[in-house]
Amino acid sequence: MLLGGAAREAAMLGFHIEPVFSYYAYHGPIFRAMVRLCHGKEDGISNYGFICHCKSCGQSQTFGFAELGQISCGCADRTDATSITVVGPLWTGPLHDRSSITEMLNLAVEWGWAHTSENGVTLEKLLGTMIEESDPRLPPGYIRLDEIASRAKVNSPPLGTLIHSLQKEGYAACRSHIGANAVKTNCPISSCIVVAREIRNLR
Ligand SMILES: [Zn+2]
Repeated sequence: MLLGGAAREAAMLGFHIEPVFSYYAYHGPIFRAMVRLCHGKEDGISNYGFICHCKSCGQSQTFGFAELGQISCGCADRTDATSITVVGPLWTGPLHDRSSITEMLNLAVEWGWAHTSENGVTLEKLLGTMIEESDPRLPPGYIRLDEIASRAKVNSPPLGTLIHSLQKEGYAACRSHIGANAVKTNCPISSCIVVAREIRNLR
């Protein structure tokens, strides 16, 4: 919402933005972002759009302004239009610039700040998570572990195991610095459910 507002204001003035980093702090809670204001219009795809979530199957998808009329979910339950929630317009692009965060991490190590921590998370770990979140294959948002578990009707699999299994299947997957028990992945929720069941059945 914050980045979307900045993107909209910038566009009206003939600029575009590139997020450097975005940080969600639990206390508050407060969402902070640093953006680079760049000359000219954004080239290529727009990062300002809508996110729809299907309550029926749990899948989230991103839609641009041009696709507003086509919002639907690919799941079998097409008949029930009320199962789809749409939020936006908001920023749907990357939250961080990977090279800037990598530079921050290198400086933090050099300056001896890497092990300072807040709420039990070291700066090194936070920046490491942000670097993983910068994977351009990842969609906006995250999937809560308990949502996968309840749809799969199994106990929540360990987050690290789930991420590793999704990566082995060829998907991009990582932790989210925003939600502690959540996974960011480009894997459809239907396949996340299959993977979660496989993990539980192996034990
Ligand atoms: Zn659906």
